[in-house]
Order: sequence, then C-alpha cells, then structure tokens
Amino acid sequence: MAEKDGKGRARLSLETRLAGLTQPVLDRSTIWPYEKGEIGDFAYQRYDHPLAVESERVLGELEGGPALLFSCGMAAITGILLCFCKPGDLIAVPKGAYVSTSHLIGDELSRFGLELEEFDQTGPPPEKAALVWLEPCSNPMLSFPDLDAQVAAAHARGARVAVDATTLTPVLLRPLEHGADFSVHSATKLLGGHHDLVLGVASCARSEDAARLHQVRRLAGLIGSPDPAWLLLRSLKTLPLRVERTSATALELAGRLKEHPAVERVNYPGLGDAVAAKYVSAFGPLLSFIVRGGAAAAEKLERSCELIENATSFGGARTTIEARSHWEGERVPAGLLRLSAGLEDAGDLWRDLEQALTRL
Ligand code: PLP
Repeated sequence: MAEKDGKGRARLSLETRLAGLTQPVLDRSTIWPYEKGEIGDFAYQRYDHPLAVESERVLGELEGGPALLFSCGMAAITGILLCFCKPGDLIAVPKGAYVSTSHLIGDELSRFGLELEEFDQTGPPPEKAALVWLEPCSNPMLSFPDLDAQVAAAHARGARVAVDATTLTPVLLRPLEHGADFSVHSATKLLGGHHDLVLGVASCARSEDAARLHQVRRLAGLIGSPDPAWLLLRSLKTLPLRVERTSATALELAGRLKEHPAVERVNYPGLGDAVAAKYVSAFGPLLSFIVRGGAAAAEKLERSCELIENATSFGGARTTIEARSHWEGERVPAGLLRLSAGLEDAGDLWRDLEQALTRL
C-alpha cells in the first residue's frame, strides 16, 4: 500500500518527486541588497545562496536530516573533522576506503592533534575512537560494515559515527536512519552523475550539529558554488533511474568477471555479501577486481579498453576503469582495477572487457 503524507494523501514515490522538481533560475549573485537596512536571507554568497539552499532542501529530504552543500566531498569531510573533533581525538577510518580521507587526517590534521587508526570495518571499531568513520561500499575495496552494530558499539563508548555513502547514494542507503551522526557524500560522483560538476554534501542527525557545521562552512569558506549546484539539481531528477541501471550493470559485469580465467578476484558486495544485503537492495556502480599478472597486467588492461574510458572517478554516465595503483601504490593489491559502471548497454561493456582481458 502506498505510504501516506501528513494529510492522508498517498505519498508520491521518490522517482516521481525528483522527476517533478522545478529547475530554479541560475542566480550567480555574490551579494544581495539589505532589506530596509536589515540583512535578509541572502547577503553574501560565501555564507549562503539560493541554489545551495534549494539543493539542501532536496538533499535533506533524500537523507532524512538537515543537509549542507560543500564545494566537494573532501570539503564536507574537512568540515566535519574541523567542527566535531579536537586535539587528541582518535579517528577510526576503514582500511581500503577512500585514500584521501586517511591522508587528510594522518598527514595533515595530525599537526593539529588528530590521530588516525585504520581498521577493518567488517569488525568492531577501535575502543579509543572518538569518531568512527565508515564507508559502505568502500572505495576501492568494496567492503561493507554492519552499520547497526558499528553505530551501537561506537555510541556505547560515547563515540560519534560518520558514514561516507558516496558509492550508494541516499537512494540505496540513508545512514541517519541507522543512527549515524553524520552522513557524507562526494556529489561529484553519482549525485552529479555526468562528470561535469564537483560538490559535496554532509547531513547531520541533530539540527544543532547542522547549525555548528554551517558556521564552520561559512568561516572556512567551504560552500559549493551556484553553477555546480544548478547542475546537481538537474541531475537529481534522474538519480533513482541511474542508480538502478548502473547497479544492475555492475552486478552483471562483476558476475562475468568472476568467471573469467584472467581474473583472480572480484570485489562487489552484490556477489553474496550477506551483511551488505541486510542494508541495501542494490550495490551501486563501483566494483574492483584483481587480474593475474600484477600491475603490468592491470595497466595493459586499462589501456586495452576501447569503449570503457580509462579515467579516474566514478558514478558518471560513461563507464570508467583505472588501475588503482596510479593513486594508491602499494596500499592496494598490485593487479587491482576499479570499474564504475555507466549507462551503456551491459553486453557492449562486457564485450569490451572481454577483448581487453583476452590481450593479457
Ligand atoms: N568519498 C569518497 C568515497 C570518494 O570516492 C571521494 C572521491 O573520490 C571523496 C569522498 C572525495 O570527493 P571529492 O573528489 O568530491 O572531493
């Protein structure tokens, strides 16, 4: 039976609500006049602007909590760390998750007293952590934490939990509903979806945390600009469709790769990860796999793809592939390739991968 809204009417589905969004005008103003000598809702673009507020309205509804727009995913992560951590705090970050999150804490914010510990997010978080960072499905190793258990364990010790759900989007996973204190996304990926914008989002379970984060964003100058926000609103109309299609393609490619003799291992939670299946109905566009023959074989394969673009990033309309060692060196297995399924026909994509695998 259809869900009801506050007035007893059938609640429209997510697809219908997003497709029906009215695209706002692109207001690039950096200042707005005072109203009879009083500062109005908008005064200076770094503080707030109409396209940020409209994006946050839509994203907040998707996330189930107040959302804030940032200039990129790393700006959202930086904002959370600056706002909610203090010297001496241990931040527990998953192994095999987005490399820059670990580098930011371990190489840079350590100068301000933050400590980093990488842990296996499929097991319990370190006891001393003040902030537990989770990443389902992690980029690039595709591990998936037992969210409810992680949140319960962290909260029992007075720690907070931030979840970077970039690879899934709020269409598949809404971390605040599982008790997370913060949810983070690189909107550069699926939320934007066309490789033509860079933005980030952070949402908070509590409105007082959102107000503090807003203040840090404003002081540190971390807000996203009007142009990418306008593009993001355009993209959100098709988000559920793109998530469904790219997840189905990734599952099909992961299954086929698993059967190929040149492939040693495939990482994709859709291939039987029972914990992931408790939380999501599909697993997103990102998968990774290890080819036999190490780094040389991985680099040959990425160069041999003809239809699939040899490029970094993920979540776009075009399928991309890269040997992850370009960015992470020995932090990842030598033959690891990361693939992000796009909107092309799955059969065409498999033929391209197969011809490239045959050349190894
Ligand atoms: N989180 C994850 C999981 C990512 O993969 C990335 C970028 O690849 C980021 C955060 C950072 O996002 P951005 O490049 O928009 O700063």
